Amino acid sequence: TARRAHDFIRDIIDEDLRAGRHTRIATRFPPEPNGYLHIGHAKSICLNFGVAREYGGTCNLRYDDTNPEKEDIEYVRSIEADVRWLGFAPTGVYFSADYFPKMYELAERLVREGNAYVCDLDEEQIRVYRGSLSEPGKPSPYRDRSVEENLDLLRRMKAGEFPDGARTLRAKIDMASPNMKLRDPLLYRIRHAEHHRTGDAWCIYPMYDYAHPLEDAIEGITHSICTLEFENNRAVYDWVLEHTGPWTPRPRQYEFARLALDYTVMSKRKLLTLVERGHVSGWDDPRMPTIAGMRRRGFSPEALRAFAEMIGVAKANSTVDIGKLEYCVRQDLNQSAPRVLGVLHPIEVELVGATPMTSEAPFFPPDVGKPGSRPLALGSRIYVDRDDWRDEPPADYQRLAPGRTVRLRYGLCITADAVVERDAQGNVTKLRAIAHPETVGGGNPADGRKVSGVVHWVDAETSVPAEVRLYDRLFKSAKPEEGGADFLEQLDPASLVVVRGARVEKSLASAEVGSRWQLERVGYFAVDSDTKPGALVLNRIVTLRDSYAE
Ligand code: ATP
Ligand code: MG
Ligand code: MG
Repeated sequence: TARRAHDFIRDIIDEDLRAGRHTRIATRFPPEPNGYLHIGHAKSICLNFGVAREYGGTCNLRYDDTNPEKEDIEYVRSIEADVRWLGFAPTGVYFSADYFPKMYELAERLVREGNAYVCDLDEEQIRVYRGSLSEPGKPSPYRDRSVEENLDLLRRMKAGEFPDGARTLRAKIDMASPNMKLRDPLLYRIRHAEHHRTGDAWCIYPMYDYAHPLEDAIEGITHSICTLEFENNRAVYDWVLEHTGPWTPRPRQYEFARLALDYTVMSKRKLLTLVERGHVSGWDDPRMPTIAGMRRRGFSPEALRAFAEMIGVAKANSTVDIGKLEYCVRQDLNQSAPRVLGVLHPIEVELVGATPMTSEAPFFPPDVGKPGSRPLALGSRIYVDRDDWRDEPPADYQRLAPGRTVRLRYGLCITADAVVERDAQGNVTKLRAIAHPETVGGGNPADGRKVSGVVHWVDAETSVPAEVRLYDRLFKSAKPEEGGADFLEQLDPASLVVVRGARVEKSLASAEVGSRWQLERVGYFAVDSDTKPGALVLNRIVTLRDSYAE
């Protein structure tokens, strides 16, 4: 397989292998099960699993479940399903909580070796003692407790003798360090909470800065890749490993830029707010930037992987044009989605002089070059789209209007003859048209009429009804959170428009949930999971046209 474009992470790995620092590469993807995965996680998944695949190494899925209150088994299940759907198979699936006994054992070792102490300051006091970037911190009054006292207090913390927040275990590092993270970071806090995996076995929980390096070391991870905001935590990561080792291999942390996309929000906390307040139908609402939402919308794993590859891996944060994602989705659909006919807002047309016919219509245009076709029946009544009719057309109008002639895609030419019916608002609902049977298969009408253009249509008799959900970007503004704005106020009410009473050709009647189609001239659509027998529901994946040019 062709080597993908190189980035700084892959350069580091190449150099580690060349210098003999490692002989095998081990990565991990470590989500916290406190929400569904989003497109940012997809970037991290593609990087971690992609690297493992390219170098013949391993990549674990590890649930970073050290915050009992926010975590849930529903999230655990969705995360693994999403990783697998994206096309990756974890080497192992692990839970941080399974390492709690080992982590605790190492905490006692830190205490015994004088590298950690039990501190009685509360959260606010700890913050004040820590100082600021411009002033060194003050040592906690509990910093010099004896090893015996620290061990006794730590064991009593673990035994549940103290309430939440009463005490913490802290690393004894350097209260004057210019790196604030090194000013005696917290290793354990007390939380009398039910954990989704360990129940009430524990009432002390390790902090990220302590847990993460140990999880990596226990699993033999070589390259621990995280996002840029953890840059300053790297010093703590290294300190923990130095004081609990030796570890072979010795994991190293590397930071890359997290993905931000315009027209959306990406933190799980904000996505949870959208779900809880009912602004979307759930984590898998097709407008959500979650993997589950994008899957339901109709994005393919190939499209998401192509997007991850396109944006690459960089060391500086930036916001990516959501048009790039839509571009990748269209590129993929153009190659994979069969073309079919469907009419969102039907006008009935009675055809005069047409002989019922059936043509064999190809699923793909010649430039895609894929095989496949289906029979398309054309009877004496059809539907065309409201958007393809004007009572008073502009001069350059290429569709139907009084007296105008158009070609029906895969069919024949028809000339609009009379308006038969209008609704209360005066919109045309029924037309009569003259058919030109001599134009089946091509050519202009024998009477020399000019053909204005080609329109899509469906047969009235054989087509099936559909509900069509037109999805668009969830937010009105590119940066819904700019300047501290309330992102909920930037929601676009037009991000979902439901069209009832659409009609699609018969071949879609038995289309599978999740299958993707192009309705010619209309857009790309996927069959939604709300579909029931006889009640087809289509999601618009993307429109046909690109706003983004590569
Ligand atoms: P959020 O802020 O959305 O809640 P998180 O970083 O807290 O995300 P985790 O579950 O801890 O979510 O993330 C698991 C992995 O995915 C981490 O290694 C993290 O670096 C990576 N990740 C999360 N968000 C992004 C993003 N926007 N771009 C790239 N990687 C990300
Ligand atoms: Mg996290
Ligand atoms: Mg988070």
